[in-house]
Parts: sequence; C-alpha cells; structure tokens
Amino acid sequence: MARVTVLGAAGGIGQPLSLLLKTCSLVSELNLYDLRNAPGVAADVSHVNTDCRVAGFEGPAELGRALRGADLVVIPAGVPRKPGMTRDDLFGINAGIVQSLVTAVAEHCPAARLLIISNPVNSTVPIAVETLKRLGKLNAARVFGVTTLDLVRAQSFLADALGRDAHRVADLASHVTVVGGHAGRTIVPLLADAQLRELQRRGLYDSYVHRVQFGGDEVVKAKAGAGSATLSMALAGFHFAELLLRSLAGEAVAPEPAFVYLPGLPGGADLARALAATEPVDYFAAPVRLAAGDAAAVDTAFVADLAPEQRALVDAALPELAASIRKGVDFVHAPKAR
Ligand code: ADP
Repeated sequence: MARVTVLGAAGGIGQPLSLLLKTCSLVSELNLYDLRNAPGVAADVSHVNTDCRVAGFEGPAELGRALRGADLVVIPAGVPRKPGMTRDDLFGINAGIVQSLVTAVAEHCPAARLLIISNPVNSTVPIAVETLKRLGKLNAARVFGVTTLDLVRAQSFLADALGRDAHRVADLASHVTVVGGHAGRTIVPLLADAQLRELQRRGLYDSYVHRVQFGGDEVVKAKAGAGSATLSMALAGFHFAELLLRSLAGEAVAPEPAFVYLPGLPGGADLARALAATEPVDYFAAPVRLAAGDAAAVDTAFVADLAPEQRALVDAALPELAASIRKGVDFVHAPKAR
C-alpha cells in the first residue's frame, strides 16, 4: 500500500487526479497539497467511500508535512495554457514552481518516485533531474515525465480516423505508441505497419499525426480561456501512476512510454546513440520497463523498426526537443543567463 502526495491538488488537473487516486486500492494515504483550497478538495475527496486516508495541506509551511513518507509524488502544479499560448510559454512560471517543489521532495522524501505533469514537460523534467543532481539526490530510475496523454489521444484519434463503427479503441491500443517529447512536433506517434499503411491509403496519415501532436490545442480553443486539457490529463496521469503503483507492489507490467533521463537508465545510452542522427538528446519519451516501481530500462528496439515516415518524424522532433531540454538544464545551471 502506497502513500501518494499530489502537489497542485486543487487545480484543474489536480482535483480529478486526486479523485481518481482516492478510488485506487493501491493507495493507503493521499496527501493533497496546494497554495490554495487544498483542505476543501481534501474534505470533498475524503468522503468517497474507499479505505484510503486523505489529508489536505495548504501553503509552503505545510509542504514538508505533505511530503514526508511519500512513496510517490505527482506534480501537476503550475499555470495552465491559455488560447494562443504554447506549452513553452508556460516555461517562465512553471520552471520555478517545479524547481522549488522538487527541492522540497529532495529534502523530505528523496526516495519517492516523481511524476512530472507540469508543462512544458520537455523542460520541467530536465529541471527536476538537474535540481536533484545538484542536491546529490538524483535517482534517474524514479523521475518520470508523464506523456500518457499523448498515448491516450493517439489511441482515440486512431479510432476516429479508422472509423469508430469498425474499430474499438481497446483493439487498436496495442498498435500505437508515442515517443519523443510532450509538445507539438516533438510528439511522435508510432503506428504498427498495418495501421500506418491503412491511414496512408485513406490519405489520413499526415492529418492523424498532426492531430496527435496538436490535440491539446483543440481543448484550449474549445475551452476559450477557461484552461487546457484537465480531465483527460488527469485520467492519463492516473493511468501512469496506477501502473507505477502496480509495479511497486510487485506486479509485472508492460512497458509504458514516459519522458526520462537517458544517461541514468540501462538502455538509455543505446537509445541516445540510435537517435543521434541529427541532434544528441539526453531526455526522450520511450517505452520504459518498470520493476518494483523503478524505471529498470528503456526500450530501444522501436528505433530499428521505424518506417521511413516515422524516422522522419523523429528526426524533425529532435532539434526542438534538444532546445527545450537545454532551456531546462540552463534554468538550473545558468540562471543568470535568463
Ligand atoms: P491545470 O489546468 O494545469 O491543472 P490550474 O491553474 O487549474 O492548472 O492548476 C494548477 C494548480 O497548481 C493551482 O491549483 C495552483 O494553485 C497550483 N500551484 C501553483 N503554484 C504552486 C506551488 N508552488 N505549489 C503548489 N501548488 C501550486
């Protein structure tokens, strides 16, 4: 049974994510932290009829207590996207939030697994890793950027493209994965050959790829100033958290994509080498093998299997991804240059 802390629990993602975690039988204690309204959210969620204990913590003075003893810390804290903003526009605000929260994690629960949801993930994960490294507390097997929403969208949109009448999402799920990063063109959906050819035959492949890469914009636009994807993101974050908790409990789970620090993981250097045709990167979203709640290895096999169209998408992703990673690393190591 695991103790889970959500940082940013009163937000648009944090609230439904906290609710879902309350329904998870693998969670025994749920600590909900935010700068505002955390006790209210905790009181509400605590009434859900499951055994997990819920507590609310508000403001920096309570952050340490919220974190102490946590096995898993999920971070959706930050500011959301508004229309016309890219995930990178969030950098200036969310970078500092993630850095300060991760510093508190290093102090109060350094062994906890860390799931980073705050965008831009392509930069906030490097900020988390470099912050922990600086503090001498990095265990790269325990830091994950959550990219599951890209997978959720890739599966849903594949059913949309191929026809919901003829295809069930559950049947398509194993034929698609997503690698790369978690913003725009850095998101690379990878389809099994049959689905790739079928979309091409129908002239839908390019529009499918574009929709997976920019699907978040549909939500930002539709919400018209009221925020970005929160419900689907909460579900996706919960899926990854639950998978990790199942692994932590000793269950064997299938590899799942996540944005990880390659030099810190078995297989990571091989993957970096295989990808490095254009631009070397130290971070990449790839299928990760979990064991006992840790990232045990990164899968590299997918690189050799890439169709030329898919390799072209990876090559197009790498320069933007490398720039976002550099921005995160520089935030920690060269703050005066900002
Ligand atoms: P999203 O749609 O991404 O969830 P919101 O603005 O609805 O965006 O939620 C973000 C949450 O993060 C808010 O509840 C906000 O109070 C919280 N937050 C912002 N900064 C911090 C911080 N330093 N520590 C904890 N929570 C924070």
